[in-house]
Amino acid sequence: MNLEKSHILQKSVNNVLETMTTLGFNVTKEINELKNIKLGLLRKSSVYRHGVTRYFPTRKWNSINPNPSCVRVVDIHPLLLEPEWKIYREIIIFHEFIHCLGYLGHNKTFYKLESLWPTINQKKALGTKFMEMLRLKNSTWKWVCPKCNIEVLRQRKSSGKYICIKCNSKLLDKAIK
Ligand SMILES: [Zn+2]
Ligand SMILES: [Zn+2]
Repeated sequence: MNLEKSHILQKSVNNVLETMTTLGFNVTKEINELKNIKLGLLRKSSVYRHGVTRYFPTRKWNSINPNPSCVRVVDIHPLLLEPEWKIYREIIIFHEFIHCLGYLGHNKTFYKLESLWPTINQKKALGTKFMEMLRLKNSTWKWVCPKCNIEVLRQRKSSGKYICIKCNSKLLDKAIK
């Protein structure tokens, strides 16, 4: 990660931790432990995963309650570091930090905590927008129906092997890049 990117990431982490203190998270314990979490990046080609918390092997900590010291790294999508994704970036970091605090699964308790985030109502829309951008970025080909003009984004060519589900016409390949 270059210096500029790691600054952006660190700034967001600080924002998240600051907001978490106002939301009532424990400053001396939870917030301080989260400060030491190592941060990394997912692969650029990742489309569906935008953040992930990776733990040390459970045999190292399964006798204790999971906590930030069990976390090896939190990886977030590299394109989340672009300025326009700030709000979504911080939603994702907050989400992963809840995992780090020991809430491993996406259950009721988890979502109750996540719902405290000030911009959480934008999560779904931003996530969809981000995913669409990634799909476009990761696609090299458009499969186009010459009759209906329906377009599908794909990494491979259709090479005449696929037909339109609506009209049965053979799909054509159009290069995106
Ligand atoms: Zn999660
Ligand atoms: Zn068609």
